[in-house]
Amino acid sequence: MDYTETRVVRRVSRTESSSSEEFLAEAGTEADLDAVIIGAGFSGLYMLARLRRLGYSARLFETGSDVGGTWYWNRYPGARSDSDSTVYCFSDRFDEELLREWEWSERYPSQPEILRYLRWVADRMELREDIRFDTRVSSSVYDEQANRWTVRTDAGEQVRARLFFPAVGVLSNPVVPDFDGLDSFTGQWFHTARMPREGVDFTGKRVAVIGNGATAVQIVPEVARDAAHVWEFQRNPYHCLPGRNHRLDADDWDEIHTHHKEIWEKARNNFGGFPYSDFVGVGADFSPGERRQLLEESWQKGGFPLAFATFSDVAENTAINDEYLDFLRSKIGEIVRDPEVAELVMPKVPFVSKRPPIEHGYYAAFNRDNVTLVDMKSSPIQSVTPSGLRTAAGDYQVDIIVVATGFDAFTGSLTAMEIRGRDGQLLSDVWAEGPRDYLGLAVSGFPNMFLVFCGPFNPAILTNAPTLIEQQGEWIIQCLEHMSAAGCDCIEALPEAEREFLQLHREVSEQTLIPGTDSWWTGANVAGKTRTVLSWCGGFPEYRRLCDEEAAGNYPGFSLRATTGTTR
Ligand code: NAP
Repeated sequence: MDYTETRVVRRVSRTESSSSEEFLAEAGTEADLDAVIIGAGFSGLYMLARLRRLGYSARLFETGSDVGGTWYWNRYPGARSDSDSTVYCFSDRFDEELLREWEWSERYPSQPEILRYLRWVADRMELREDIRFDTRVSSSVYDEQANRWTVRTDAGEQVRARLFFPAVGVLSNPVVPDFDGLDSFTGQWFHTARMPREGVDFTGKRVAVIGNGATAVQIVPEVARDAAHVWEFQRNPYHCLPGRNHRLDADDWDEIHTHHKEIWEKARNNFGGFPYSDFVGVGADFSPGERRQLLEESWQKGGFPLAFATFSDVAENTAINDEYLDFLRSKIGEIVRDPEVAELVMPKVPFVSKRPPIEHGYYAAFNRDNVTLVDMKSSPIQSVTPSGLRTAAGDYQVDIIVVATGFDAFTGSLTAMEIRGRDGQLLSDVWAEGPRDYLGLAVSGFPNMFLVFCGPFNPAILTNAPTLIEQQGEWIIQCLEHMSAAGCDCIEALPEAEREFLQLHREVSEQTLIPGTDSWWTGANVAGKTRTVLSWCGGFPEYRRLCDEEAAGNYPGFSLRATTGTTR
């Protein structure tokens, strides 16, 4: 298996890539399409289906051998969505029949079931005929004169298209820390997003799990069932919430089908795009006793209600946030029997200042004889030895090292590609000091390029993915229809609109406790990455309102023009 692609988080730089003129001169273009899409996850499949309905010709390139995106790559034990399955799919607005036909078996769908769902969608909609699997896009270059993107793949294919849709996901560029000696390890190691496809047998094995984010939190209890021993290497504790997963039976589905419009309506109006009622108000509207009771009720429901259906100032008001922290610490103290271990896994930074993992037996796993917490804060990993891991506190002999150290979020996958806009400018250069875009959807200097779900400053970190993907997809389709009606074939975000949006984003995020916490949300997990809050923090409904306002005002933040006589 090829680990090298996960090893280095890289940016394409000006020196290592061809100029747009050179590239276009070399390119023997084979097809002229309306659109090219990269990525066959939820967002790429959504765009492909919607563009085809408009009558647009499109091709989708996917590095993996099948559809699935995140769910194709992340196939580690215990992988499942932490959104309720009722809204972890395409809604009635996409296809009523599909929504009625698919019935998830559990409250939170597992990775194999999500993969089955996306394969089923691709087959039902006959999307595969426009998808090239096992194909990596090596460069995408905009030719201003022709108003075309020329996209070249590592398989030698070249296509031209007016519209370009990177749909590469928010978390798809894995980060493997540069642990000294990792290559000398004689056992098996892998990053969780690149686990060997044939599976890994943990039975009777000594396993180290490095990291304790949402991924590790799912892995530890699963692997502990079969492994001889699991050492969980933790640096900073997370705030895990109980999932309370359960089977969904025929009666549940009768109820869900009857109410699906209300369920989705709730999701579209909830701060996080989840199917819960929205916040009840600010904390000060309630007495301490009432607040504690709501936290308790939300904890009992399981999942994200504690974050997205309690008090609207949870991420802004330190005093209120401290009550959440006290509450979580007391709950953890009730689950983890060893008080020293309990203290170590209790969160220290503000609640929702980084992504709360949803747990299914993670805290309880520390009560097992075969699970040990290793505190990397007091004893960091010094090196990987041929037989395990070395810390200041001692050596750990293991057979398998699971590297659950996360991703270069939002920008990582985009800057690793050669994407050239007007005048040959590279996206990775344009974003060298930190990303900029408009509404998380478009970048000035990159005409006709729409970032679907993967654009920095969209609300992805706090939003149920399909809710946001559908909202962005609908907005893009409406925009294309507007362009067509107006006789325009070229759209580009204006620099001043980007500046204003970025300023608004900063003001909104600075009102929250998020900027002060190190995590992938702030880019702090990748050495050398500009520190900035990477996602819109004002909630999904407010983000949707900004997008709707833009459309209703006939796209004042964009320049729209006709470059040729032929437009759709
Ligand atoms: P993550 O949240 O970024 O966690 C990475 C972990 O690795 C952290 O505990 C981090 O510790 C540790 N780490 C990073 N670099 C390290 C180093 N050099 N030495 C030691 N430890 C290091 O990544 P993730 O768990 O893969 O989750 C990422 C996101 O994916 C989640 O927040 C979630 O949005 C998504 N996800 C979703 C699901 C789901 O839907 N069910 C499941 C899994 C993941 P520090 O915190 O100390 O840096």
